[in-house]
Amino acid sequence: MEKEKLLEIDRRHIWHPFTQMANWVSQEQLIITGGEGNYLTDVDGKRYFDGVSSLWVNLFGHRRREIDDAVKSQIDRVAHTTFLGLSHPQAIVLAKKLVDITPGDLSRVFYSDNGSTAMEIAIKMAHQYWHQREEGGRGRRSRFVTLTGAYHGDTIGSVSAGGIDLFHAIFAPLLFETEKMPAPFCYRCPYGMERESCGMHCAEKIAERLAGGGDTIGALIMEPVVQGAAGMIVHPDGFLRAMREATQETGALLIVDEVATGFGRTGTMFAVEHEGVVPDIMALAKGLTGGYLPLAATMTTERVFEAFLGRYEEFKTFFHGHSYTANPLGCAAAMATLDIFERNDVIAHVTAIAEKLRVRLGEIASWSNVGDVRQKGLMVGIELVEEKEGARPFDPARKVGQKVAAETRKRGVIIRPLGDVIVLMPPLTTTEDEVELLCEATFGAIHDVVKGT
Ligand SMILES: *Cc1c(COP(=O)(O)O)cnc(C)c1O
Repeated sequence: MEKEKLLEIDRRHIWHPFTQMANWVSQEQLIITGGEGNYLTDVDGKRYFDGVSSLWVNLFGHRRREIDDAVKSQIDRVAHTTFLGLSHPQAIVLAKKLVDITPGDLSRVFYSDNGSTAMEIAIKMAHQYWHQREEGGRGRRSRFVTLTGAYHGDTIGSVSAGGIDLFHAIFAPLLFETEKMPAPFCYRCPYGMERESCGMHCAEKIAERLAGGGDTIGALIMEPVVQGAAGMIVHPDGFLRAMREATQETGALLIVDEVATGFGRTGTMFAVEHEGVVPDIMALAKGLTGGYLPLAATMTTERVFEAFLGRYEEFKTFFHGHSYTANPLGCAAAMATLDIFERNDVIAHVTAIAEKLRVRLGEIASWSNVGDVRQKGLMVGIELVEEKEGARPFDPARKVGQKVAAETRKRGVIIRPLGDVIVLMPPLTTTEDEVELLCEATFGAIHDVVKGT
């Protein structure tokens, strides 16, 4: 089908995610027909650097031979069989690998198919765990503590744990209540303090809340080290560790959402490793298949798992599962992805590239409309502001972030902003030259747009 026809049908019949469709019709649309390495190609044959890893999922580029081969060879065996009451080698071998590479005593893998479901499962698992635990406060630990700005996905449960008003406020009547605590966002400190002198007041407040909640709080739910969708908010060193200690003291579970941060993105295999933290439940998705197929995993400990054991008629079963749970093609892609980690020093490469990126980002820190530059590994947020003094944001109607993304695209790089936070999240295989390309395109676009608004 030719381009014009494709565009016409798209405009007439498709409803794109997270997209104001009234604007969509008037914008120039890209139709991607191919990918190779860190680049995407559109229907006109124009090449673009994939500056946000196809929305944070891709790790090793497109058409990576090892992953292609694994999926093809699995297709020659079987594409899908159910995981309800049956098993298959791909999911089994992958589970062992996941247990081996994740920290501490995470030893059980519950599969699903995306980040939202992985978190939905984490929440239901924690709830049922407390309901079924024999000793102590049975069923009383029904509350969750969550962070402002949190993003855990778009299903009703994961939205309940979320804290981005723009996405979530409208659904408030449908959500279960959580105890939202101010997240550590040093650039716009919720307590109006300065990092140098605050003594991590925000962490203390959450610890106090957990202690005050006694045995009514079942779990603390958080994105470890970086809150992605909130605008790449990098937590201060020691915050995650403080959260682990606070939950340990009160007996609440710690649920970490590594959907965005997992698989090397922050410069360690998992973000919890930065602080030597072992959570009770951990959600994985996005990079798990190298960005190839929808697959997710919720991992937990034997302690949590054992609370679900009993005679059939006790109904302690975890009644949750999806049609495509543990899809064999996804598992094959995930296995190949983890093999790439095993055979290459991916983390060393990420560290070197992230350092190169850090140096280049330093160039724009002083620009008058660059309020804050946040980075952890290959997760970057550049917050653009109208005025540096007081961190005064742009009027949203000016759509500064969207304009920068459009300008960046003209320069051969695809990015997608979060409001006026310009997000850069290149694949782990990004080269030094591609850091240059990414920075030149982005900085040029910021310069042109901000000057022009
Ligand atoms: C993307 C994301 C999710 C949701 O994952 P989906 O696969 O889009 O459902 C959950 N948590 C975090 C931290 C994410 O970045």
